[in-house]
Amino acid sequence: MELLEQRIRTDGKVRGGEVLKVDSFLNHQMDVALFQEMGKEFLRIFGDCGVTKILTIEASGIGIACIAAQYFNVPVIFAKKSKTRNIDGNVYTSKVESFTHGKVYDIIVAKEFLRPEDRVLLIDDFLANGSALQGLITLVRDAGATLVGAGIAVEKAFQPGGGLIRGMGVRVESLARIKSMSEEEGVSFC
Ligand code: 5GP
Repeated sequence: MELLEQRIRTDGKVRGGEVLKVDSFLNHQMDVALFQEMGKEFLRIFGDCGVTKILTIEASGIGIACIAAQYFNVPVIFAKKSKTRNIDGNVYTSKVESFTHGKVYDIIVAKEFLRPEDRVLLIDDFLANGSALQGLITLVRDAGATLVGAGIAVEKAFQPGGGLIRGMGVRVESLARIKSMSEEEGVSFC
């Protein structure tokens, strides 16, 4: 998506060769007009898939998912990062390793919101090693729901997540795919 690539070129900041900071428009300050264009693009790609729920993960996926959901006209569920274990069995749970902090944490979704009859589109801001998506996929599968695919804003294609998730047979569509990046050279796209 040219608009997003252009924005990354002008306002993205590469940190240490592996992390792209997009705080000024994507995951701290949020450019809602840009999110609207991204939402329309996700609808163009997944609009004929019968999506009934959008599932994302807190925190930085929520804004993108909510704006996209306006075009799909479906609810958004965000998987919560949880410190307490599932005691009474009313939640689906899985584990995610944070790319930016390196810690492993549990994510949960209440069973009442993710049903076997749901057709679920995953949305997230970044795809790096694929741990966040794997965690979300586990929740969808445990619920017995149908996974339609994953819509990603920025895929760092030089990291293994995209290959891993596509290798699981999941449709992954990314609006911007970064081929390589460095502090000196900036970002280049696939
Ligand atoms: P993964 O689980 O695929 O390794 O990483 C995905 C998650 O890590 C995303 O939800 C995102 O919040 C965070 N993330 C991964 N890479 C980057 C990055 O380069 N920049 C930022 N801002 N977040 C990232």
